Amino acid sequence: MIRLITREHTLRNRSPVMFGWTGKFLHVNLNKTKAVANRYEGSIARNYLGGRGFAVKILWDELRPEIDALSPENKLVFAAGPLTGFALPSSGKMVVAAKSPLTGGYGDGNVGTLAAVQMRKAGYDAVIVEDKAKKPVVLLVQDESAEFLDGKDLWGLDSFKTEEKLREIYGKTAGILCIGQGGENLVKYANIVCQGGRAGGRPGMGAVMGSKNLKAVVFSGSHELPAADPKTMQTLGGDGYREILTKPNYPFWKRQGTMMTIEWSQENSVLPTYNYSEGVFEKAEKVGGFAMEKIKVSNRGCPQCNMTCGNIVKGSDGKEAELDYENVAMLGPNIGLGNLKQVATLNRLADEYGLDTISLGNVLGFAMEASEKGFIDRNVAWGAFKPTKDLIDDIAHRHGTWGNLLADGVWSASEKIGRDSSKWAMHVKGLEISAYNCHSTPAMALAYATCSIGAHHRDAWVISWEVKTGREGYNAEKVDKVIELQRIRGGVFESLTVCRLPWIEVGFELEWYPRFLQAATGLEMGWPLLNVIADRIFNLTRAFWVREYGKKWSSDLDVPPARWFEEPLKKGALKGSKLDRGKYNSMLQMYYRKRGWDTRGIPTRSTLKSLGLDDAARQLKRVNLSD
Ligand code: SF4
Repeated sequence: MIRLITREHTLRNRSPVMFGWTGKFLHVNLNKTKAVANRYEGSIARNYLGGRGFAVKILWDELRPEIDALSPENKLVFAAGPLTGFALPSSGKMVVAAKSPLTGGYGDGNVGTLAAVQMRKAGYDAVIVEDKAKKPVVLLVQDESAEFLDGKDLWGLDSFKTEEKLREIYGKTAGILCIGQGGENLVKYANIVCQGGRAGGRPGMGAVMGSKNLKAVVFSGSHELPAADPKTMQTLGGDGYREILTKPNYPFWKRQGTMMTIEWSQENSVLPTYNYSEGVFEKAEKVGGFAMEKIKVSNRGCPQCNMTCGNIVKGSDGKEAELDYENVAMLGPNIGLGNLKQVATLNRLADEYGLDTISLGNVLGFAMEASEKGFIDRNVAWGAFKPTKDLIDDIAHRHGTWGNLLADGVWSASEKIGRDSSKWAMHVKGLEISAYNCHSTPAMALAYATCSIGAHHRDAWVISWEVKTGREGYNAEKVDKVIELQRIRGGVFESLTVCRLPWIEVGFELEWYPRFLQAATGLEMGWPLLNVIADRIFNLTRAFWVREYGKKWSSDLDVPPARWFEEPLKKGALKGSKLDRGKYNSMLQMYYRKRGWDTRGIPTRSTLKSLGLDDAARQLKRVNLSD
């Protein structure tokens, strides 16, 4: 079924051994079927850590500005951090990144996967995939070898079947990442899938992979990871895992994982419902954590994690599906569907096709509202299971007018549909908003609006703190909290690359991470220094957006959709709530000032220089940087 096309691999620039990091990037050119491993400068590791830090640095340095994200010129980066692959809590993660076809800006996602562990054991901190294969291929990276295998027989298969076939050949422990039909058909929110439905890369990383004719990547490594202090590493790892088990929230977390958030969101009127027009759902109980427990069959999770949070249930078609808060909220309440088994089936279908479940639920909510208002001639009513399933099929294959139009995301769809649909196209910078309704939570709205990839909660999930401490204010304390979380979560965790959930959900203390880092790398890097690194990464990410958007960049891009400002909630305890536009804009300007950005949201020259981003300051001259 799979045969070898070519094999070539060389190693350049030998330099002293580093600890923690493998010290090597692998550049793979799919068109030339060539792979070259390079040792990179130690300063890159110290200044950018890994994961997102490496990804944005590589894309900034290597991409020509304003390329078409789906052209061969784009590059797809798989990047891990200095903790990835060690026996440390929740460290089996990697970042997949590229210029996003959905947003036109910086795009990435993290994925918990054996591929992260195996890529590092094969000897690489990052693999950079360039150009486009002449026909469908599977990239196999095994230690010092890279092979380009014929992927013709896998093209057209869903992600589950693709992985199954590759696993038959490469075994249970291989790290496999693949795309489904969504990525092949360049759906702009197609993601990358692994391990039977774990997925990452919301802003179209699967579409970038599809545009390169790359059906799958298989990593398999046999090297020991180079720890500076292996003994301490072993002791600390064991202590860390045991510490997590002692946390009071741990037993309930194991029962429900993030699914408990359905009930929390409902109680607090922030559950995305009927395309974010409401914050409470009349059938929330039917799709909540306790309803899930009744049909749960097992847990699944990322490698190196003892908090395994994927809840496995059987859907209405009998197939297994993995449920978490985001995918249930978006494919349940947000589309008016109150049957958990049917929600599970839609989730499974999305994972098979390799479509991001958050964006998909958001797009479907938009389509249902457009259908209700008579803006599109496709009949898809709120909560109607079969028409929804049919529409997902059409989107994944870009079938028909609406399948094709909705495959480009809500920003593009609203521009084509016109009328007032942009007011309820729920995105920021083109990335569909994830599962929190922010009519009554200005800090969370700011977090969405300023996130590195468009509207996602990953960088700063500030909503739980905001609900606890007071929703009303648009003040400095909220701005500071958003920045603090963006540093810890979006900067440090995404670059180390470790999961944020042990800290957030069971209270695994932040002090563990510098200790892990020192055992791995030998470097003493406390949180003050890590926060500076996080700022460097965050500012380079923002510079990437500005370089891509050029003169089209404006602070309007950091503002959530009009619905939250203009259409108050009609139901629930917070009936009548909406955001205040004037206060929001003042808070945004305060955020810019604290970040060292100008009134347009562009880092000033001195901010960039203070972080060592002189090249960004030079390249952004054309947008007239402020001092
Ligand atoms: S807590 Fe969940 S998402 Fe995080 S590493 Fe564990 S299984 Fe993965």
